[in-house]
Amino acid sequence: METVATMATTGAFVPCPWITFFIDRPNIKCSLCLETDLELRSPMEPPGDHTPALLPCGHVFGYHCLSIWRRQSGNRSCPACRTSFEYPLCQHPVPAKLLDAVSVFTLPPTLAEEAGCIPDECHDCRWKTSRKLFESNVDFHKADFDRLRADFSESPGGRAKEALLRKKKMLQMTMQAFFSREVLHGW
Ligand SMILES: [Zn+2]
Ligand SMILES: [Zn+2]
Ligand SMILES: [Zn+2]
Repeated sequence: METVATMATTGAFVPCPWITFFIDRPNIKCSLCLETDLELRSPMEPPGDHTPALLPCGHVFGYHCLSIWRRQSGNRSCPACRTSFEYPLCQHPVPAKLLDAVSVFTLPPTLAEEAGCIPDECHDCRWKTSRKLFESNVDFHKADFDRLRADFSESPGGRAKEALLRKKKMLQMTMQAFFSREVLHGW
């Protein structure tokens, strides 16, 4: 079935959750127990049994009901479309994403949307791979930072301070670039 992000929600199919929950505002029942409305909570509250849990295909279920259902399939498949989701390279299962009133805006696009895709590796495996790169990038600036800090404590003049602050900023940007890449990464 062809979909676009603005397509109306039908049942448990939520191709673009922020449109569903903030523009259309439907009452979606959990299509596993058929009883309880899915409840988008504030991020300050702990998730409940029927916090919406979204799969990469765009199907959404109550978190608790989905966990029970998925356990039987090694946490891989979707109760609605039966698609099995795993990361192609590391073959770990793709977890459902829990939605709250803030995380609904920072989700990766579902596979029903443009640009929606499953990355080669899961978050943990990506982390291990890119951690090494991160450390070598940081090491590069860290040695300079240590030296400039020692210079500054010996003679805390204006120029030493400027150089130290410049390096501090660079170190911080290197770290932030790494972590924001981690956060923005897909499913
Ligand atoms: Zn349910
Ligand atoms: Zn599905
Ligand atoms: Zn993995």
